[in-house]
Amino acid sequence: MSASLEHTRHTLAHLLAAVVREVYPAALPTIGPSVENGFYYDFDFGATKPSGDEALAKIEEKMRTLLPSWDVFTHKVVTATEARAYFKDNVYKLELIQDIEQSGELITFYTCGNFTDLCRGGHCEHPSKEIAPDSFKLDRVAGAYWRGDEKNPMLTRIYGLAFATKKELDDYLLQREEARKRDHRKIGQELDLFTFSELVGSGLPLWTPRGTLVRHELDRYVWELRAKHGYQRVTIPHITKKNLYETSGHWAKFADELFRIKTREDHEYALKPMNCPHHTQIFARKPHSYREMPQRYAETTVVYRDEQSGELGGLTRVLSITQDDSHVFCRQSQVQEEFFHIWDIVDSFYSTFGFTLRVRLSFHEPSEFEKYLGTPEVWQQAEDALRAIAKERGADYFEAPGEAAMYGPKLDFMATDSMGRNHQVATIQLDMNQPERFDLTCNNEKGEKERIVMIHCAVMGSIERFLAVMLEHLGGVLPLWLAPEQVRILPIADAHHAFASQVYDQLKTAGVRVEVDLSSESLGKKIRAAKMEKIPYTLVIGDQEVATSTATLESRDVAARQPDTKGKIGQLAIDAIISKLTEEIRNRS
Ligand SMILES: [Zn+2]
Ligand SMILES: [Zn+2]
Repeated sequence: MSASLEHTRHTLAHLLAAVVREVYPAALPTIGPSVENGFYYDFDFGATKPSGDEALAKIEEKMRTLLPSWDVFTHKVVTATEARAYFKDNVYKLELIQDIEQSGELITFYTCGNFTDLCRGGHCEHPSKEIAPDSFKLDRVAGAYWRGDEKNPMLTRIYGLAFATKKELDDYLLQREEARKRDHRKIGQELDLFTFSELVGSGLPLWTPRGTLVRHELDRYVWELRAKHGYQRVTIPHITKKNLYETSGHWAKFADELFRIKTREDHEYALKPMNCPHHTQIFARKPHSYREMPQRYAETTVVYRDEQSGELGGLTRVLSITQDDSHVFCRQSQVQEEFFHIWDIVDSFYSTFGFTLRVRLSFHEPSEFEKYLGTPEVWQQAEDALRAIAKERGADYFEAPGEAAMYGPKLDFMATDSMGRNHQVATIQLDMNQPERFDLTCNNEKGEKERIVMIHCAVMGSIERFLAVMLEHLGGVLPLWLAPEQVRILPIADAHHAFASQVYDQLKTAGVRVEVDLSSESLGKKIRAAKMEKIPYTLVIGDQEVATSTATLESRDVAARQPDTKGKIGQLAIDAIISKLTEEIRNRS
């Protein structure tokens, strides 16, 4: 967000508060920051809250009427006593004033029009000139606890949207509407992929047979891509003694996010929030000669992180996260080559779905070094190495201080989806700290112990998050190789059931995921149902087809590209259909 847009948004929060005070004189304004896509202001409305779209529309209209009179922002520094006198009836502002006073910061009042607010600044200097009256819109009302604490009173938050121009606002609204249609929670239900149970708990998705199939296919693809680079499967338990995390540093640094377990004998265990520490112990089981390096371990497994329940929703924030995790244990001299291999895997995987990738080099924040493990020298060395790798690869990259993992810098892949949104997907991390902490070495050519490094990578990252992003990106239209049901056979009448069953057996034997619709519905209804469920292919079987041992093949994707054909490919011999489909599945086209 540019500074000026941020100022516009925050200025509009003031304007909103000014109007609310006019329409609801008893309302107490609290705080009103700018946020992504707009702004909000929290009010204590007391007995008369605004309700319904009409109330919002009225406030919005009054904001537009008032805006031309907001010529210039002025501010002044006031004493705590003056501030208290001005806000004597507003307990929230009084609390803020006390906090500012204690922090030793100056107390400032900002005024525009006839509205004055306690504020740190960050406004348009001349709102009436700088803000286009049609570039903002009040969006919705929500409840919010004062200062985000559920022990505090519930306030009423009014959200607004604001952009530099009306066009940008309209584009955003359109995109949001499209995103709502493509919400992965909605698609997941329509495609019957996952579910939640109140008894199990929120943030703990349960995967149906269809959803499990999709996960399995994705995982299999990643394994195929890894196969030629020498990865080996490993398996670890989901809990560990506290000692492992004390050595790795997670016990202290993961603090709140760690699910802790007490055994009956009072020993402390934890559910794993990541897999690396366990994997180091597989590497450490025996000495390794330099000839055996790198060792590449991979495992698709679930990690657990304790998130606040308020933050959970759909698949994007869950307590149980499935990672397609891998750890390469290698010599310093092997880092670049291993990075390039992983990079190739990531490129192949994401291009299959039509994502474009950008690379972010996530480095540490020097002013908060206490957040990280290791010494500044080790960090410098690791970050220089990553920068060199990105340059060597000729990648489109940018650097982001403060985005590193606690044990090392990362190379994050940012995917742009079909709606133009950016998501962080895969990450490759270079770690020189864990090998130090666990004393991991190999025996080099001179017979000496040599410190090794670790490379962490999860190609999908979290399968749950990847699926959410992928389902929304594709609008639920899964490619043939990934579709839980690849083909549906539609016999026109009962007389065609016997041949339909034969075709079903043939396809099944060929490894195609096929179902047959034996219901007594009309053909039109059966076709519509298959369309709704986004089945890639349908096979229609009637008199003609039975007589010639063929089926009429129709394609969902052809129908989308050339609507006049209704997706019809033609009446084909069953063998021809099988070889066409199996080839398409094999190629993941
Ligand atoms: Zn302000
Ligand atoms: Zn790791």
